[in-house]
Amino acid sequence: MTAAIIDGKAVAAALRERVAGAVQRLQSASGVTPGLAVVLVGDDPASHVYVRNKGIATKKAGMASFEHRLPATAREEDVVALVRRLNADDAVDGILVQMPLPAQIDAHKVINEIDPAKDVDGLTQANAGRLLLGATGLVPCTPHGSVLLIKTVEQKLSGLHAVVVGRSILVGKPLSLLLLAENCTVTMAHSRTKDLAAVCRSADILCAAVGKAELVQGDWVKEGAIVIDVGINRVGDRLIGDVDYAAAATRARAITPVPGGVGPMTIACLLKNTVLAAARRRGLADPEI
Ligand code: NAD
Repeated sequence: MTAAIIDGKAVAAALRERVAGAVQRLQSASGVTPGLAVVLVGDDPASHVYVRNKGIATKKAGMASFEHRLPATAREEDVVALVRRLNADDAVDGILVQMPLPAQIDAHKVINEIDPAKDVDGLTQANAGRLLLGATGLVPCTPHGSVLLIKTVEQKLSGLHAVVVGRSILVGKPLSLLLLAENCTVTMAHSRTKDLAAVCRSADILCAAVGKAELVQGDWVKEGAIVIDVGINRVGDRLIGDVDYAAAATRARAITPVPGGVGPMTIACLLKNTVLAAARRRGLADPEI
């Protein structure tokens, strides 16, 4: 079997188009222009690139983009004060604090200062709790994007065995909960899992979110499985995933490449969350996206 390549770039571009349409409809119906504020602390070069790309994508979708930069020496109370200002600013519908933060700042403290209604990363305790409870909230972007990609291959996930390797708060845990909400039977695997290869071989949907280049070998993939590779690992001048792509592609039914798979979905879902936040904050119905 040769796997179909799940084209995250194309799926993300189509999602960004739908977001732009929803922005236009929101503007003409209620005069609201959604706004996304990104907070960047310090001078991590990769973070600067991410923030710039988010700003460009936000404006391209017809939304307002606000960038706030603080020096690497900023104190926790400076970042908290900025988040509180953004919470109170009506032009701001989404607040994203770019990670990682410098060591002197407690990221959990900062994140939990964000108004849950503006928490477009879905990382506050309130939104994490809503996801657990199955209530409406803002869902973390990378896991949401991963599920959207799976659904381009298979609409009905009910009863399928999903194995999620990695249990981070950012990716693995919320992805497991989203797949559970789709009625998958979910196994959360992690660094202490015994015989990870055998666990992975039992997956109809195999998601890797570890951060270890090509940890998931080709023969860990069940024939006909859907493989979602969230990992981004820099090896020399190349970016590679957590899955041995070439070997896995000979067994999988469909697989995401790295780059060009899950990565582009993250920003697209961030834009989607910003529009949802803009509507919900004003008591409007969720726009069709
Ligand atoms: P993390 O370091 O917070 O979590 C890694 C998880 O992997 C942990 O839960 C750990 O238990 C598990 N793990 C570690 N070693 C393992 C092993 N040998 N076997 C099984 N499990 C193991 O990382 P994260 O933030 O969840 O990110 C994971 C990867 O996804 C990274 O490569 C990151 O760059 C990438 N990522 C990509 C996007 C995107 O937009 N595509 C977004 C976020 C993260």
